[in-house]
Amino acid sequence: MPLSTPISRRSFLKLTGTAAAGTTAAGLATFGVAPQPAYAAVPQKEPKRGQEFPSVCPYCAVGCGQLAMVSDDRIINIEGNPDSPINQGTLCSKGSASFQLVNNERRMTKGMYRAPGSDQWQEMGVEEILDKVAQRMVESREKNFVEQVDGVTVNRTESLAWLGSACVDNEECYLIAKLARTLGIVYLEHQARI
Ligand code: SF4
Repeated sequence: MPLSTPISRRSFLKLTGTAAAGTTAAGLATFGVAPQPAYAAVPQKEPKRGQEFPSVCPYCAVGCGQLAMVSDDRIINIEGNPDSPINQGTLCSKGSASFQLVNNERRMTKGMYRAPGSDQWQEMGVEEILDKVAQRMVESREKNFVEQVDGVTVNRTESLAWLGSACVDNEECYLIAKLARTLGIVYLEHQARI
């Protein structure tokens, strides 16, 4: 029956009942529609191969295993490591995109320092930056350490805060918490809770 043919409610129900009772294709054919089978076709690409190095995704503490393919001293592909008991070869969207983290013209590869009050960044070695951070933490702690509040011993500094990261695993969290508490830091937070 052509689709343009007027159709009553009764005959419509009869036709659709016929379609439901028969095969879908036969039912659709009743309306003059004859769909061809459609197959999802994912283009298969040859995986890029180089020397494989097992690695760990840097993005979060799930710690999915990765395989980094290296050729001519460059990472040419990163994919999930099927031998990892954590992710068994899979990666989430962030982990899948970590190739772009390595090969990115905007990636910072040098330490950068901006002095207090300055609007200029300058290159600085990472070791030197770490020394600077440590020195300032010590100075700030000594200057602002509070031993007692209202006669109660508190031994804390309110001039420092420590912000954890989703990249930090359990053992690192334990050590960071120990160090922060030892320094008297009370503002100890995690990025995922902000
Ligand atoms: S970001 Fe994704 S791929 Fe990377 S460790 Fe976390 S869950 Fe795994």
